[in-house]
Amino acid sequence: MKAELITIGTELLLGEIVDTNAAFLARELANCGVNLYFKSTVGDNLERAQEVLKRAINNADLIIISGGLGPTEDDITREVVSLATERGLVEESSVLLNLENWYTTRYGDGNSMPIQNRKQALFPKGSNIVPNPVGTAPGFWLEVHGKIVVALPGVSKELQAMFNETIRPLISLNGSTRPLAIRNLNFVGVGESNLADLLSDIIDHQTNPTVALYSSTGKVRVRLGAQADSIQEGFRLIRPLEEEIIKRAINNFYGYDDQSLEEVVAAKLIKNRFTLALAESCTGGLIGHTLTNVPGSSLFFQRGYVVYSNLAKQEDLGVKKETLDDFGAVSSQVAMEMAEGVRKKTNTDFGLAVTGIAGPGGGSEDKPVGLVYISLAHAGDTIVQKYLWKGTREQVKQRSTLAALHLLWDTLKSHSKV
Ligand code: ATP
Ligand code: MG
Repeated sequence: MKAELITIGTELLLGEIVDTNAAFLARELANCGVNLYFKSTVGDNLERAQEVLKRAINNADLIIISGGLGPTEDDITREVVSLATERGLVEESSVLLNLENWYTTRYGDGNSMPIQNRKQALFPKGSNIVPNPVGTAPGFWLEVHGKIVVALPGVSKELQAMFNETIRPLISLNGSTRPLAIRNLNFVGVGESNLADLLSDIIDHQTNPTVALYSSTGKVRVRLGAQADSIQEGFRLIRPLEEEIIKRAINNFYGYDDQSLEEVVAAKLIKNRFTLALAESCTGGLIGHTLTNVPGSSLFFQRGYVVYSNLAKQEDLGVKKETLDDFGAVSSQVAMEMAEGVRKKTNTDFGLAVTGIAGPGGGSEDKPVGLVYISLAHAGDTIVQKYLWKGTREQVKQRSTLAALHLLWDTLKSHSKV
């Protein structure tokens, strides 16, 4: 079964809202084993929307339209479907009655439904009503020359509920067959092209499962997708490939699907009953913020110092004045004294410290913008790593935060019992 999506709304074209409905529907169609080859966005314009719909009906078996089902002038979907399919609009009395009742229940007797809302009871002839479990106005679906055209409201909560309750069963009834199992593998501290090189033979020979790489600041995601007779069978096809890919980049792998690095780090700290304190300079508290976004972080997170000035590094953490004078605040020596200092002061298992130059000013020839030292102190050992990031001030802070969590993750893997 081939599908096409059409999202309607001028605000989508202007970039005022993000098309999350298309993303939701695309994901769900893949789960249902429906192939999606095209999706379009069109403004609230009767001619252009009709043109897009007619083309979609020619190309696909299932067309899902999002948005434009409301009562106002710019809500045009019912007219668009009516014109494109040459089915006149008919009033559905049961829907009209429901809408009127909803108004009187909500606003009290004497408050009748505005006349313009009457239009929400109009449907192209032959339509099936798609009930709306979380809002007032229903959607509809109809068959046109063996193709199915579905219209759902733009409000995401309503669209999702209606898809789940009515459209998903409709798709399985109409013989979509092979669902797509998807497994994402998350990596940190490796570039997209380096990982692609490591996996080049796998990527070149992919068929089913398919393999695709996506990157975002400091992270790379490998998406494995397998089409099979059942989701379980799809995951069975994925498993050997998944294991091979993780093996090749084991030091950079940290989690599956929506798992974040901070979540896996937090889980490991909690499981091992380890405690942590932070000493942050150029990240300004971002590591603390990121870790405390994880529910339950109070079980391991003791405290964090934002030690921006030299004086703060000395007074709060006992960094030596001579070390600052001799090597400068952005140096491996100071990073190590910060990590050891914060660990000692707070009596924690791990002390993690960051010092660097986020930019755009403040760089010099031997200490350029983007230079960052990260240090981790734990029983018997203090590790320090040097980085030279490119990018904006915010990116330097983000990358440093990720690298600090990566260093902690790596160390935890080799120093944990569970
Ligand atoms: P309403 O009765 O609210 O007018 P509608 O079915 O006519 O519903 P739209 O007018 O197209 O839908 O959109 C209503 C709201 O739903 C938008 O303001 C926006 O917040 C959200 N929305 C619409 N389309 C999308 C989309 N593709 N992705 C995410 N949100 C959307
Ligand atoms: Mg609307």
